Amino acid sequence: MAAIIEARDVHKSFGKNEVLKGLSLAVNEGEVVVMIGPSGSGKSTFLRSLNKLEAINDGQIIIDGEDISDSKVNIDKVREKVGMVFQHFNLFPHLTVMENMILAPVQLGKMTKNEAIDNAKTLLKRVGLLEKADVKPDTLSGGQKQRVAIARALAMNPEIMLFDEPTSALDPEMVGDVLDVMKELAKEGMTMIVVTHEMGFAKQVADRVVFFADGYIREEGKPAEIFENPQDERTRDFLNKVL
Ligand code: ADP
Ligand code: MG
Repeated sequence: MAAIIEARDVHKSFGKNEVLKGLSLAVNEGEVVVMIGPSGSGKSTFLRSLNKLEAINDGQIIIDGEDISDSKVNIDKVREKVGMVFQHFNLFPHLTVMENMILAPVQLGKMTKNEAIDNAKTLLKRVGLLEKADVKPDTLSGGQKQRVAIARALAMNPEIMLFDEPTSALDPEMVGDVLDVMKELAKEGMTMIVVTHEMGFAKQVADRVVFFADGYIREEGKPAEIFENPQDERTRDFLNKVL
């Protein structure tokens, strides 16, 4: 199997604070990797570095065969392949749901407006929110906003989806609907990296769980291995706190 995401010995500092200390991870096409680890351990920084929202200081990140640190690489083209969903949705508040959905595909010339609208309708239907196409995001619940955010990321037809704690800001009763959309995507073969504290989701959906602490991957393995038989003391500590 070919790795579609490959991080090799990635280093990233903010000033004197070295956040990523030589991190390597390869993700195969269609694989679902769940990243867990304490707050402040660099999980968001790592995800953001995968589409160059953060520039790394050393190492390599290769997305679908392209080294994104290479100045010759068209980063916009790479970003089209990598959808990202954040904790706080980041929908444009002044635009309707439909306008949010079609903005990027139309502006980046990926689709005509009509194509983008058709595509958006299909995606909104898929996340159960077609009837919300014409409302502004502030009329939606947190869970609905997040499902729109996922649909919006999918509107670019990405090959990879990155999720950064997509359910952490949601009321508990909203979490299930968002996780269901993600489960569906995983089942359809989307390559995904998901940072989450939802251990149930990790157990059920992850092909691989990666435990992240102190700027390194401390341990990785199948969900059963990590949850039932963690080898690293930091992993055991963390799991004792969250499970
Ligand atoms: P996590 O997502 O695992 O909670 P982050 O990647 O958000 O961790 O943060 C890792 C560390 O990097 C933290 O110490 C945080 O304060 C620091 N950090 C993150 N982003 C920035 C930034 N833009 N400027 C300075 N420090 C940052
Ligand atoms: Mg984070």
